[in-house]
This record gives sequence, structure tokens and C-alpha cells, in this order.
Amino acid sequence: MALIVQKYGGTSVGSSERIKHVARRVARWQREGHQLVVVVSAMSGETNRLLALAREIQAHPDPRELDVMVSTGEQVTIALLSMALMDLGLTARSYTGSQVKILTDNAYTKARIVNIDEENIRRDLSEGYIVVVAGFQGVDAAGNITTLGRGGSDTTGVALAAALDADECQIYTDVDGVYTTDPRIVPEARRLKTITFEEMLEMSSLGSKVLQIRSVEFAGKYRVKLRVLSSFEEESVGTLITFEEDGKMEQATISGIAFNHDEAKITILGVPDRPGIAYQILGPVGDAGVDVDMIVQNVGQDGLTDFSFTVHRSDYVRTLEILKPVAAHIKAREVQGGDKIAKVSVVGVGMRSHAGIASTAFRTLAEEGINIQMISTSEIKISVVIDEKYMELAVRVLHKAFGLEQPA
Ligand code: ADP
Ligand code: ASP
Ligand code: MG
Repeated sequence: MALIVQKYGGTSVGSSERIKHVARRVARWQREGHQLVVVVSAMSGETNRLLALAREIQAHPDPRELDVMVSTGEQVTIALLSMALMDLGLTARSYTGSQVKILTDNAYTKARIVNIDEENIRRDLSEGYIVVVAGFQGVDAAGNITTLGRGGSDTTGVALAAALDADECQIYTDVDGVYTTDPRIVPEARRLKTITFEEMLEMSSLGSKVLQIRSVEFAGKYRVKLRVLSSFEEESVGTLITFEEDGKMEQATISGIAFNHDEAKITILGVPDRPGIAYQILGPVGDAGVDVDMIVQNVGQDGLTDFSFTVHRSDYVRTLEILKPVAAHIKAREVQGGDKIAKVSVVGVGMRSHAGIASTAFRTLAEEGINIQMISTSEIKISVVIDEKYMELAVRVLHKAFGLEQPA
């Protein structure tokens, strides 16, 4: 008998028929003798609908109230799935995040899980219940409802698997695993049988929304056996996230291409080139709680330099406002910005031992006439910032240039 945590995403519970389908799948696992904890998202489109509704009332919705409201999407699906399970003659019990007591910090809309009280879940499991838990939500120490950021149900799933020391965490979604890139953009994308934890971490942080980054972090920290699979295909084996100690087979050089257009770029021109200037610019940005991603500073000339960085698009306008007085104070020439950018990244642990990956990427983009605005690299990834309108083209040509459509 194994303890399995399954998580079903929005599309997988998008209608009453689909919820019944999920119930039948869960029932099958239980019949095979396993204990099941099932985490569900809101029905597809529901979270977006709720967020839009809030914005009709308040242009910048109050974060506490936003979490109270947006967490209701998942509350609906846990009850519906429990009913569907009961209808199959099984015993099931639903829990909201606060009923479980998924304790988080108080950072509304992007809270972090700090502790999970497993007592109720363990008791129910030992009594033969299927436990159904609302994804994406928790409760802070003062009893306020919090949510974990978009895609946060993945994190609920993996965190529960870690807390319960589950044998496996299965993330059921609308694709049958992790692909070399988003199959909706590149139909030739190929499913990966395995992907290393490090690569998955990069893919998620660089934009592949198939797993929320924090769920991958949890999986790494607590060594959760994590698999991504299809909720629609019966025989899907999906993609297993592996760790170094799993023993590496022949490793492909490049595993995938990730992309996002969630960022905006800000450039300060004519900055005096002297010690402390990066701190003077980025200090106030950090103090305002804005996360900075890529940073580029040019080689100075005539005592002046240019300084560019990217922030999340939702922080763009605010960051420009913060920088106006800063630029005046340091006597910079001008602050410019643009939010029509995209970041495209090539990811692979094999990059460590292969030279020439960067030049292949740059040549491929040059051949399409795509201008690179910023570059950042690590041991296992190369990211470029380009004009948003070339994003899909860049993903397609890079995918082809690295031979990702061919079986590994
Ligand atoms: P869920 O609602 O089940 O959580 P998401 O929409 O959050 O599903 O994530 C699944 C989607 O992630 C897929 O439909 C796919 O379009 C997208 N995606 C992006 N990159 C990848 C990738 N490398 N492999 C698989 N899917 C990807
Ligand atoms: N319903 C939430 C969202 O749409 C959480 C999730 O689906 O993982 O982001
Ligand atoms: Mg998701």
C-alpha cells in the first residue's frame, strides 16, 4: 500500500463530467489498495473570472479581500469532487487550506507555506477516507486566508506530499508530461521521460508554467518523488523529475526551451560610472519589494554608463515612478522602459560539458533577424531578452536548432 498525493489542475476539473472522470481515476487507485490525498484547483477559467470581478469593484483590489474571494474557486471543486467520490460509494472528506491548517506567512496573493498540520488527514486516511484538499490556499497565524500565487495548487500538492512523506506526488494536467517546450507553441515538442530537478527548476523559473516554481523547490528540498502526467490519457506514464543520485543515463545536452513575457525592461542612460551606483539605483527598487531579474551594466565611457534591468510586468509602472527621483538625484540623463519584451531561455545540464551552445543560440536568432537586447547565463541556461513579437519564432527556431524534436 502506498500513500499517493494526486493534484488535478483546472482543465482536469473544468466541468462536472471531468470531475466525475477524476473521481473514477481516484477510485481506481484506491481499489488498488493505495491511500489517496487529492488536491484540486478551481475549475478552469474560474480564478481569472474572480480576479476580473474584483477589478470591476476596485482598480487595485485589497490583497486580503482578494485572497478571501479568489480562494473560493478551489472550495467549490473540493466539495464537488468529494460528492462525486461519494456517488461512487467511497468515503471522502474535503478540506480547505485553513481547515487542514496549511499555515503560511501573511504575504497575501503570494504566501509561502511554513507548516502543514497533518493530523486530520492522517486520521481520515487511517479510517479509509479519501482526503480532498483545496489547492492554492492557506491560512496565516492570525487566521487570515492566504493564497500561494498563480499555479499554487502544484505547491499545495508537493508540500502535502512532503509533509505526509508520501510515496509519490502525481501532478495531473492537460498535457501528458513535461515537454521540450510548450507543445501549444511548438507542435513538434517532445515529451521528456525524465527531467532532472535542476532543469525543472530552471524551466519553471524561466516561464514553463507546467509546474509552479515553488512546487519544484519543495520537491527538491524534501526529495519528493514527483511525476507530471495527463488526466485525460489512461496509460500516460508522464515525466518523472529525477535527482542526481537516481543515476544519470546518457544526458541530452539541451532539455528544453522556456519562455515568458511577464517582464518589462528599464534602462537608465548616462549614469555616472562610480562605485555604489548599482546600489543607489537598485536599493530603492528592492526596498519597495520589487524583484529584479536580469541586470546589465555597460562598460563606462567618459565617466558615464548605461544600466538596464528587468522586473515583473506588474511592477513596471511602479518601478519607473520609484526611479524618477533616483535618476534626478544621481544626475542620470534619462530613464527609458518598455514592456513589449519576452525572455527566451535554453536549458540543459549538459551545457556544463559542452562548448558552443551560446554561439548556436545567437547564430540561430541572428539568422532570423531577431535582435538580442539582454543576455544572461548560468551553468545550465542561456536567457535572452528580445522583442515580444518574435517570441514564438525564437522558441521554434531554437527548438529546431538544438534538434529537440528528434528522440533523445
Ligand atoms: P493546470 O491547470 O493543470 O495546472 P497549467 O495550465 O498550469 O495546467 O499547466 C499546463 C500547461 O503548461 C500546458 O497546457 C502547456 O501549455 C504549458 N506548458 C508550458 N511549458 C510546458 C512544457 N515545457 N511542457 C509541458 N507543458 C508546458
Ligand atoms: N486556481 C489557481 C490559478 O488559477 C491555482 C492553480 O490552478 O494552481 O492560478
Ligand atoms: Mg498550473
